[in-house]
Amino acid sequence: MIRIVVANQKGGVGKTTTAINLATALAAIGWKVLLVDLDPQGNASTGLGVGHEARTTSSYEVLIGRASVLAAAVATRVPRLDLVPATVDLSGAEIELVDMEERTHRLSIAFDEVPAGRWDVVLIDCPPSLGLLTLNAMVAAQQLLVPLQCEFFALEGLSQLLQTVERVRQSFNPSLAILGVALTMFDRRNNLSQHVAEDVRACLGAAVFETVIPRNVRLSEAPSHGLPALIYDLRCPGSEAYIRLAREVMARLSRVRAEAEAA
Ligand code: ATP
Ligand code: MG
Repeated sequence: MIRIVVANQKGGVGKTTTAINLATALAAIGWKVLLVDLDPQGNASTGLGVGHEARTTSSYEVLIGRASVLAAAVATRVPRLDLVPATVDLSGAEIELVDMEERTHRLSIAFDEVPAGRWDVVLIDCPPSLGLLTLNAMVAAQQLLVPLQCEFFALEGLSQLLQTVERVRQSFNPSLAILGVALTMFDRRNNLSQHVAEDVRACLGAAVFETVIPRNVRLSEAPSHGLPALIYDLRCPGSEAYIRLAREVMARLSRVRAEAEAA
């Protein structure tokens, strides 16, 4: 069971949109997928149509050890895609966790209990911060996917994110690898978008996925219908881009798997 953390402490860069649509694309090709909503805003839960009344057992209960991942997971409208929803309770978890044992490993420990084969891939959607929630996700995952918005300050904050990854590797999870950086909200009519994309590629090289997610209004409409864009409008440019991104993610994951088997 490969676990991918989707993180960037900058807000509104496309973490949740990426997590939902990537999860949907992977489920569509037949994988059993779990999306863990680890953001008190609960955007991934809302975007997948899991209303507040259906969030009886949430990622908060999992983190504080009151519920198992299996007990918290609910089915979504997307076949093969399950969700551990989030509630506002999570906003208190950052503080509650500080006094708990193994505070950075709570999610990782919870996943130790999940039977092998229950899910093929787990995506963890993080809040826009580098606090204990994101740390728990980084400790529980083997791969990190960073959505990066094509805007002027895109690279600002990235070094802090990469420092956090280094700290997590040294202290808690040496096997955390960077799966890739996904450029989001690209506007091809905007020169700035082009320049930022070029800068990011010059800076990060092969870590950047070839696929660029365009700015596309259909991607932002879909969550209000409680549907992934891939189901709301499969043919829109945003959905098509996320399908291409999913192909790249699968190729990178199979390379990782082949390397692990050869080692
Ligand atoms: P937060 O840090 O608050 O969790 P986030 O990084 O998860 O935010 P999203 O919620 O995915 O970011 O996106 C922020 C807003 O931009 C949302 O309203 C979303 O619908 C919209 N959005 C995301 N990607 C695109 C895109 N490619 N084109 C147009 N709108 C987009
Ligand atoms: Mg989000």
